[in-house]
Amino acid sequence: MANSVPPRDRTDQPWRSEGAPPPKRKMPGGWIGLTVAAIAVFVLANLALSYFTEGDEPTISYTEFSKQVTADNVTKIYAKGDAIQGELKNKKPVPGGEGDYTKFTTQRPAFADDNLWAQLTQKGVTVTAEPVVAQRGLLANLLISLAPIVLLVLLWVFIARRMGGGLGGGMLGRKAPPKPVEVTAGRRTTFEDVAGIDEVAGELDDVVDFLKKPQTYWEMGARMPGGVLLAGPPGTGKTLLARAVAGEARVPFFSASASEFIEMIVGVGASRVRELFAEARKVAPAIVFIDEIDTIGRVRGGGAGLGGHDEREQTLNQILTEMDGFTGSEGVVVLAATNRADVLDPALTRPGRFDRIVQVSPPDRGGREAILRIHTREIPLAEGVDLAQVARTTPGMTGAELANLANEAALLAVKRRQREVTQSDLSDALEKVQLGAERSLVMPEEERRRTAYHESGHALLGMLQPGADPVRKITIVPRGRALGVTLSTPDADRYAYTEEYLRGRIVGALGGMAAESVVFGVVTTGSESDLEQVTRLARGMVGRWGMSERVGRLTAVPSDAQEPYGLTAAPATLDTVDHEMRRIVDECYESACHQLRDNRDRLDALAAALLVNETLEEAEAYRAAGIPRLTKEEGA
Ligand code: ADP
Ligand code: MG
Ligand code: ZN
Repeated sequence: MANSVPPRDRTDQPWRSEGAPPPKRKMPGGWIGLTVAAIAVFVLANLALSYFTEGDEPTISYTEFSKQVTADNVTKIYAKGDAIQGELKNKKPVPGGEGDYTKFTTQRPAFADDNLWAQLTQKGVTVTAEPVVAQRGLLANLLISLAPIVLLVLLWVFIARRMGGGLGGGMLGRKAPPKPVEVTAGRRTTFEDVAGIDEVAGELDDVVDFLKKPQTYWEMGARMPGGVLLAGPPGTGKTLLARAVAGEARVPFFSASASEFIEMIVGVGASRVRELFAEARKVAPAIVFIDEIDTIGRVRGGGAGLGGHDEREQTLNQILTEMDGFTGSEGVVVLAATNRADVLDPALTRPGRFDRIVQVSPPDRGGREAILRIHTREIPLAEGVDLAQVARTTPGMTGAELANLANEAALLAVKRRQREVTQSDLSDALEKVQLGAERSLVMPEEERRRTAYHESGHALLGMLQPGADPVRKITIVPRGRALGVTLSTPDADRYAYTEEYLRGRIVGALGGMAAESVVFGVVTTGSESDLEQVTRLARGMVGRWGMSERVGRLTAVPSDAQEPYGLTAAPATLDTVDHEMRRIVDECYESACHQLRDNRDRLDALAAALLVNETLEEAEAYRAAGIPRLTKEEGA
C-alpha cells in the first residue's frame, strides 16, 4: 500500500527513513569483513592448488629410474625436455617414502650421458607422445585462477549479510548512515492523501513552509517550534499526517516508534536517539517523527513501563536534550504522536519542546466522504455508488476504519467475481466491520429464541427511548463473539451527550438482559459485554461528567481505563461513586423491565419477525415492532 511504513534498514536500528539522499557507498561488510574474507580465500586457494598440482605420482630420483629401466620394469615414458613421466610394469615401493607406485615423474640431469635412448629401445619401452601422468586441462587452469576472486566476492557478501543490514551495514554499521528509501521510489505521501482533517493540515502548513525554505525564516530571525505533538485517538491519521508533512516539504523523514528505542540494556535507547538525530542533522532540513511517545513520555512515577524506569527516562531525556540543543539553524523539526496527551510528562510540552499540540479528531461526515474517496481512488466503483450515503451511516469511524471498510468492500467484490465494487459490497463490508464476521454456528432452537428476545429487547427499548440513536439493524446470526447484534447509529455526528441520552443508552444496553428475564425468567452469560458497557457509561456519568448530585461536579475517577481507581478522590467519595452507579443502573433496569412488560406484544412481534428473517433492516424492524420511525425533525 502506498501509505505503509517503509521497512527498517537494519534490525538493530529502531528508525526508518524515507526520502533522504543516498549515502556514500561504504565498503560492504567493512574492513574487518574484507580481511576475514581475504584470509579465508588465501587458505582455500592454496589447498585447491596443491590438490590440483600434486597427483598421486611420486617424484623419484633419476638413479631409481635408471635402476627400473635396467630391471626391465618400465612400460612407457613421456619426456618433455629433461622432465620424464613414466609407468612401471609392476609396482614398486617408493624409495624413502610410503606405499607403492606405478606412475612416476623424474628429472634427467643435463650431465647424464647414459645413452638413455638406446637403453629404452633395448628394453622395449614405449616412448609416447602423450603425457602419462594426467595434466591439468584448460578448464581446470581457468577455474583455479578464477576461484579466489569468486570466493572472495561470495565470502564478502556473506559476511556483510551476517553482520546485518545488507550491504549498507557492517561491523562498523552502528555509525553507518541508514539506507534511505530511494528518493524516486514510489510517490511520497502528501496532503493529497489526507482528508477530513483539513484544519489540522492547515496548522502544519507553516512547518512545511519552513522546511521548504528555512533560509527565509533564518534571515528573519524567526524560530520554528522545536516540536509538534499530534494528539488524537488511534487511526485518525497522525502517522499519515507526519509523513505527509515530510512529503509535502520534500524533506527526508525519519520515523521511529518510541517503544522501539527501549531495550533492556540501560543507555541503548539514549544512544540510538543520539544517532537518529545526528543522521537527521546531516541531511537537514528533515523531519524526525517519534510515534507513540506516551510509552516513554508518561508522567514519571506512574506505572512501570517498558524496560524499567531508568531506560525510559534516559531515552526521554535524550530526546529532550536533542530538542533543547536546537539553535534553530539545524532545520530539523520533531513531530511526535500520542493517543494519550493527558498522561504526558509536562517536561515534554514545555516551551521550546513540543510546545505546539495539534488535536487530530475523527472526521465529520464530509471528512468521511473525502477519506472514502481517497481510499477508493484505486478501486473501480460501479455506477451509482454513493459514498456520501456510506459516510452518513458511519459516524464516529476513523480514517483507518474507513480505509479498512473500502478494502473489505474490494475484497468482497473479488470474492463475488465482480469487476466493480457496488453499493451492496460497501454496505455488506460495513456490516462486517461494524458487527464482526458471520460465524456459522448451529444454534439449538431454544437458544435462538432466547437470542431473538434478547436482541429484540435491545432494539425495542432503543426505539422507545426519546432521542436515542435509531436502530439500524438487528440480527440473530452469530457474529464475532456475539450471538446476535443490534446496531444503532446516530443520524448525525454527536459531540456531547445529555444525561437523558446516556440513561437511554443504559436502558437499551440492559434491554437484552431485561427481555430474557421478563420472558424466560432466566439470567444468562450472554449479557457480559452489555454490562461492561453499562458500567462504563454509569461510571462516566457519576465520576466524570457531574451527573450525580451526591458525588457533585468533580472528577472522581481518572479517565485512564487501566487504573479505574487511582488516588483521585477520598475513599468515601469512591464509595459514593459506587453507590450512585448502582442507583442509576438499578433505576434503568427497572425502567427497562417495566417498558418491556408494557410493550410485550411489540416485543413478541419483533422476536417473531427476527426468528423468521434472522436479520432485520431499519425499516423492517420498526414495522415489525409497530413503532413509527421518527425522523430527525420530529424526534430529537
Ligand atoms: P494513527 O497514527 O493516528 O493511529 P494512521 O496514520 O496510522 O493513524 O492511520 C492509519 C491509516 O488510516 C492510514 O495509513 C490511512 O490509510 C488511513 N487514514 C487515517 N486517517 C486518514 C485521513 N484523515 N485521511 C486519509 N486516510 C486516513
Ligand atoms: Mg500511528
Ligand atoms: Zn446484548
